[in-house]
Amino acid sequence: RLVLKFGGTSVADLSRIERVARIVAAAAEDADGVAVVVSAMAGDTNRLLGLAEEAVRGPAVSSAGPGLDDAPTSRAARAETDTIAACGEQLSAGLLALTLQRMGLRARSWLGWQMPMATDGAYGAARIADLSAGALGPAIDSGEIAVIAGYQGVSPENRVATLGRGGSDTSAVAVAAALKAERCDIYTDVDGVYTTDPRVVPGARRLDRISYEEMLEMASLGAKVLQTRSVELAMAHAVPLRVLSSFEEPSRARQGTLVCDEGLILEKQIVSGVAFTRDEARVNLLALRDDPGVAAKIFSLMAKRDINVDMIVQSKSRQANAANMVFTLPHKDLPDAREALESARETLGYQEMTSETGLSKVSIIGVGMKSHTGVAEKMFQALADKGINIDVISTSEIKISVLISAEYTELAVRALHAAYGLGEAADS
Ligand code: ADP
Ligand code: ASP
Ligand code: MG
Repeated sequence: RLVLKFGGTSVADLSRIERVARIVAAAAEDADGVAVVVSAMAGDTNRLLGLAEEAVRGPAVSSAGPGLDDAPTSRAARAETDTIAACGEQLSAGLLALTLQRMGLRARSWLGWQMPMATDGAYGAARIADLSAGALGPAIDSGEIAVIAGYQGVSPENRVATLGRGGSDTSAVAVAAALKAERCDIYTDVDGVYTTDPRVVPGARRLDRISYEEMLEMASLGAKVLQTRSVELAMAHAVPLRVLSSFEEPSRARQGTLVCDEGLILEKQIVSGVAFTRDEARVNLLALRDDPGVAAKIFSLMAKRDINVDMIVQSKSRQANAANMVFTLPHKDLPDAREALESARETLGYQEMTSETGLSKVSIIGVGMKSHTGVAEKMFQALADKGINIDVISTSEIKISVLISAEYTELAVRALHAAYGLGEAADS
């Protein structure tokens, strides 16, 4: 059994769907059963979400673009937005099934509720709750190609829920895990996972293999080639993932990148890749009461509003019994976070709150960091050589991230890519 997933640019029009159908047909010849997961045609999800947003806010507000004073969206509105956003995948699944049928293959479309793909009720960012293949297994065993609408599932309230942007990757891995597929092939508009985004660094190199661990960090630190949850799920269920290009004809020998166990990777690099995210914001709470429980209060306020806090730095304030707290979060969540902190000012007892936007986070990732020294020094020196100031630093066993001014994002990514020799062939 094999699961194939095609992203938005791969199904952007009927001629590309035609090529996808040829890839699927070729795979069906070799496999015992094939399930295909598709994303919406390129641009459709953005368009649908834009329409939903306009309906929620009214035309006057949305024409001014997303502003900092946007009010938080209600749960009811998020559920309705999912109903709209999920249409894109219904369309592409139907079109691919029709194309396969025209080529003489047995194929049918499957929507989230038909499988069903059970999720939790976090509309807009739902998690898959149950990994069972339902009627899918017998269907593909009978030789029929299942064309599955990615990104969508059914919530406990029996409503359409979406898995968040890039969620079709996760749909595909979930289906692969449920079907106990031999592999999950993610076809996209690049021919594999690169040392960094090849659109930013043209000299980026394709990796033959990358460990689940590193891929998980790369994805969560901004490499959108795979949705973070898809890698999490693949790692948990030991689903081998392959990333490859849908722009090549099926006959050509494809390599792509295999995401697999660390043990299967012979040549271990100290640093395997560079990732980045833009649109970071920073909150500074100055002269905060330095008592047990204050940090817990701050971050429970954030958690209650579903705000994902990232880097956190606490330091002593010059004032007695006071501390300064700095943390980062996505730009879009800043108004919400400020409002929450403002309303808890008395309890938290801080003197001043400031915030900044226009920040980026740039990270280096590599399992080799566990056992090598001097990795951080090289990073900071490379940034210093370009005159880039580091705002906040955070580290884990296999990554180092720095917060910098967004205008230096590309410069920093290129400098780090060069500093660790990532563009050079692994054996040179
Ligand atoms: P799809 O629509 O197929 O899901 P995405 O746009 O979500 O495709 O992901 C593919 C894109 O990810 C590439 O076009 C590339 O610009 C970007 N990307 C970011 N980081 C990397 C990386 N390290 N390797 C490969 N692609 C990357
Ligand atoms: N169509 C959805 C999106 O654009 C899901 C996906 O492409 O994976 O986010
Ligand atoms: Mg994607």
